[in-house]
Amino acid sequence: AAKGGGRGAFRFFEPELDQLMHVRRNLEKDLRKALARGEFELHYQPFVSVETGRICGYEALLRWHHPERGLVLPGEFIPLAEETGLILPMGEWVLRTACAEAAKWPSDLKIAINLSPAQFRGKELVSSIVGALANSGIASHRLELEVTETVIMHDSGAVFAALGQLRELGVRIALDDFGTGYSSLSFLQKFPFDKVKIDRSFVSELASATEESRRIARAVVRFATSLGKTSTAEGVETAEQLAILREEGCVEAQGYYFSRPLQASRIAPLAQRKAEAAIYAA
Ligand code: C2E
Ligand code: MG
Ligand code: MG
Ligand code: MG
Repeated sequence: AAKGGGRGAFRFFEPELDQLMHVRRNLEKDLRKALARGEFELHYQPFVSVETGRICGYEALLRWHHPERGLVLPGEFIPLAEETGLILPMGEWVLRTACAEAAKWPSDLKIAINLSPAQFRGKELVSSIVGALANSGIASHRLELEVTETVIMHDSGAVFAALGQLRELGVRIALDDFGTGYSSLSFLQKFPFDKVKIDRSFVSELASATEESRRIARAVVRFATSLGKTSTAEGVETAEQLAILREEGCVEAQGYYFSRPLQASRIAPLAQRKAEAAIYAA
């Protein structure tokens, strides 16, 4: 608004702001009911061994089937769920559902689950994970928890303690979206984790024509290897990207090149054949 426009200039934007607040309030109201109404669903996206093409496991990705708006992706409702605390019951549902689903799979397949920073602020995280493992009967080493650097920056004392306990149980910790946060190398050295997931933004830059494009991927893989961690590249969309990641020693890969996230009923045999074909083609 123009300076000195006074009340009038401000009012010009009011309807829009009002509209925005209205949309948000409605979304929040709907989100509160979504769990009880069974509107959530998990889709599963495989991550595969770069060397063999074998599927190592699947990452659970939350989907919301809104009665009027149709499919809503997590980017649109996870932030709101975090602000309102709804992420706690939702996260619990994700954990239980994903572990129960994984119990139906061959026992060499892992299940990766995304955790929000807010879930570490609640006191129940470790016990709810123990509960989900016990209920589903899956072995703890099949469970991989994905956390971002934001999680570990928040309240590192409590987070360290929780992650330490989980790792003692045999649960594995992956650092998601790696390279987009601000954590220092010395901090990461102390941080209890098992795997780095190279963020999609770096993977999408990979082109064989330029040596530069490889530098970050190479640095992350070497960083992980030197700390004794494993590496996954997320957002792999082309054979070219996969070939470069393989040359750089990246251990696992995930992305549309292999498979989009799939409904639980559609995952197993088809996905394995496609993943192998994709590896051989690269
Ligand atoms: P993320 O954990 O980094 O998941 C990867 C996102 O990239 C997913 O988006 C996935 O569908 C998408 N993706 C995978 N391969 C490709 C590719 O080749 N190209 C492109 N362009 N995209 C690809 P999605 O499902 O929309 O999830 C977005 C984010 O929402 C996730 O990022 C994760 O941080 C969060 N999220 C999803 N499910 C949950 C959940 O159950 N709990 C929590 N706390 N967060 C979740
Ligand atoms: Mg993830
Ligand atoms: Mg990620
Ligand atoms: Mg990402």
